[in-house]
Amino acid sequence: MDKKVIYLDNAATTKVMHKAALSAMLAMENTYGNPAAVHEFGKEAEAIVESSRGTIMKCLGTDKGTVVFTSGGTESINWALNFCAEKNKRFGKHIVSTMIEHAATLETLKHLKEIGYEITLVAPQKDGSVSLDSIKSAIREDTILLSLMAVCNETGAVLPIAYAAQYAKSVNKNIFVHIDAVQGFMKIPLCLKDIDFLSISAHKIGGMKGVGALYIKDGIKMTPWLYGGYQDKKLRSGTQAVPQIASFAKAAEVHYLSFEDMTGHMEKLRQYLVKRLKEIDGAVVVEPSDTAPHIVNAGFGKGRSEVIIRVLSDMGIYVAGGSACSKGKKSHVLSAMGISPKLIDSSLRISLSEENTKEEIDIFIDGLKTALKMFG
Ligand code: PLP
Repeated sequence: MDKKVIYLDNAATTKVMHKAALSAMLAMENTYGNPAAVHEFGKEAEAIVESSRGTIMKCLGTDKGTVVFTSGGTESINWALNFCAEKNKRFGKHIVSTMIEHAATLETLKHLKEIGYEITLVAPQKDGSVSLDSIKSAIREDTILLSLMAVCNETGAVLPIAYAAQYAKSVNKNIFVHIDAVQGFMKIPLCLKDIDFLSISAHKIGGMKGVGALYIKDGIKMTPWLYGGYQDKKLRSGTQAVPQIASFAKAAEVHYLSFEDMTGHMEKLRQYLVKRLKEIDGAVVVEPSDTAPHIVNAGFGKGRSEVIIRVLSDMGIYVAGGSACSKGKKSHVLSAMGISPKLIDSSLRISLSEENTKEEIDIFIDGLKTALKMFG
């Protein structure tokens, strides 16, 4: 792409940003074997998959349990939730999650409800955060699964996953805990203690689209998700996406090695962005009490987000309205926070990467001010 763009939609997806991630993939021009094949090419491909698995585990801070590669966050979440519900149904049918989860979770829970499970969705507070107390009071003796996102993709709110997981296990050791860490992985510190399953995705951290992983705690006996040739720890059949997997591991490793610098840079930019947004008349910035460094949501009380986004897009500035996965639909997250429909209609989600700069924020703010002038 020749046009100079200012890309501030990194929560929707990132560019394959590291020379390393792209070269990890391109290096496979001559390593095109099927990892299941017994010849040398097969062995080379298998070694790439296994060392990538090791890298992802290292980035998650564990050498216990395993990660299984999937097609992305959505698949990992579907697998984990369906497995937990089925495996634990002998203990009860109650599942706890939140109203602000991604559609991958909410739609899977909808399906589980249709087949007889009882779902409690905890409401967020006005600032977008979810209180530990509200999660605790939703958990019962017969709760079999707690599924929480680490970071909300629309507001950047960080959920109290560690304390909630610890509490859930203290109520009932059979409760499974699943974390949707698609927006949290490599953005906030994550600790796997008390967590049974964790879903992550490559394309949010500079890896290729179409690959993700499900972390599975040591000792959990999984049933296969896909039946066939018994690839990937005999749990997810199908020829592995070796180049994508290699890009995922490389991108994760680059982030892992520069975690403090990258998140520190984004946090400074986020604070600057919030300050600049507040200069705009009528702007209401969502500010959760605990927030990730890369996501800011703001409403302006005039104009419609689709129009503002298109005007900015014509200037080469790319942002989102609400979540990228809910095109045209009113944000269920902002609605659950009790934000007025007028603010929701005009809300934008601005999401950062470690490559964004202060100058880009300034250009965006100027562009936004121009766009908003169209609405009086
Ligand atoms: N969970 C969250 C919080 C997300 O932000 C997303 C994607 O936007 C997903 C899950 C789905 O991940 P994927 O796009 O890899 O399927």
